[in-house]
Amino acid sequence: MIMKKDVPVSIHWFRRDLRITDNKALYYALRSRKRVLPLFIFDDHILDPLARDDHRVSFIFDSLHEMHQALQQQGRGLLIRKGKPADVFQQLLSEYAVEAVYCNADHEPYGRERDRMIAELLKNNGVAFHRYLDHVIMKFDEVLTAQGTPYQVFTPYSRAWKGLLKPQHTEHFSSEQHLNALLEDERGSFPGLDEIGFRRSPRQAPPKTLDAAVISTYHQTRDIPAIEGTSRLGVHLRFGTISLRSLVRKALQLNEVFLNELIWREFYAMILWHYPEVVGQSFKPSYDRIEWRNDPAEFERWKSGTTGYPMVDAGMRQLNATGYMHNRLRMITASFLTKHLLTDWRWGEAYFAEKLFDYELSSNNGGWQWSAGTGCDAAPYFRVFNPEAQQKKFDPQLRFVKTWVAEFGSKVYPDPIVGHNMARERCLHVYKAALSG
Ligand code: FAD
Repeated sequence: MIMKKDVPVSIHWFRRDLRITDNKALYYALRSRKRVLPLFIFDDHILDPLARDDHRVSFIFDSLHEMHQALQQQGRGLLIRKGKPADVFQQLLSEYAVEAVYCNADHEPYGRERDRMIAELLKNNGVAFHRYLDHVIMKFDEVLTAQGTPYQVFTPYSRAWKGLLKPQHTEHFSSEQHLNALLEDERGSFPGLDEIGFRRSPRQAPPKTLDAAVISTYHQTRDIPAIEGTSRLGVHLRFGTISLRSLVRKALQLNEVFLNELIWREFYAMILWHYPEVVGQSFKPSYDRIEWRNDPAEFERWKSGTTGYPMVDAGMRQLNATGYMHNRLRMITASFLTKHLLTDWRWGEAYFAEKLFDYELSSNNGGWQWSAGTGCDAAPYFRVFNPEAQQKKFDPQLRFVKTWVAEFGSKVYPDPIVGHNMARERCLHVYKAALSG
């Protein structure tokens, strides 16, 4: 009888690349001439702080299950483990003759530290650790200024990014054609969501389909929240259920404005990589002198969408009900919280992190620091969005507002929590005081 320990294997460790098709590290693992064990670890460090019905966990679970079912048709399956990655790897090294581990790299501080520890553990056990770049197009030190430093402003970064783009950056890695190199003995053992300690969330993620018609007209429709004018693919980019390279190829064919948004995502990932201190600190340190008001009752009204500003309230209610908020509303609600209410951007950032399906540390931090004026290439602090003017411009018929704030215009709808002119003046005064201090 052949024992697990007798067969040398490579492991492909899925993390934020939950797909079989066009997966770079999986492709190289499958071409390594060893049997490949496809692994996913439900990481206690990430899961422990989450609500037991967290919608992102349901999404990950369903995506893994879909992959498992696809593999089962070929007599294969995923190996699912739960625990701390270092403990799981210790265990796997005792069960299998592991010769190499393959994965796609992560840019977040936790992921980098986790991978550093795993690299050390594997090295001590004589196991190779191969990492590839899959969730962004450019390496983080590939797009640099003439002085060799990271860009801090988006427009020159995106210009340089486009100038450096070669066909090989968006190449298709045909992992899906080499699945016969997967090990054949993990086909049955898929756990239930309850065994991981979670309940199913009623929230549904947007579908994984790229609507070419939406992308073609994206530049005209992306700012109108009442219509489906954006891709809604954020969650799929976050967890890698869709290939970024395939999206960039489409964007190059269909719409440069859409491509620019994908580059914004990459810009913020690059910023987080080079400046991990943006987690918890303003990119521009002087902005950490702002004296936030941080009124808990006002924060509750912002969260529940009862500020008396219909665009703000509609955005917050969309987020609370669906786990999604349109980009225009993210900018309006974030500006309102930080500038009108003078609430620390970190409060809003944490709330979005809890609620968004497509929550991505780098983009969320970047978006919040942009809105608060504290970030690299941020909206200047004296630009204070007027929520009423934003509504007139982007939802003139109140279609979006009425979808989410049914009582708008009736007596039960609250008066504005704060007057716009007063709030604007107060904001300018407080920001100025911080920056001159
Ligand atoms: P589309 O408009 O179809 O764009 C396609 C993709 O490009 C998006 O899915 C996303 O991956 C990327 N993208 C688009 N705009 C941006 C942007 N401004 N910055 C970075 N990437 C972008 N995006 C996240 O993915 N996760 C977040 O946690 C997040 N938090 C945000 C918080 C604030 C305060 C703000 C102002 C923006 C935030 N964004 C975040 C950016 C943007 O709002 C969302 O990416 C977008 O609304 C998602 O909808 P979509 O998938 O239909 O995007």
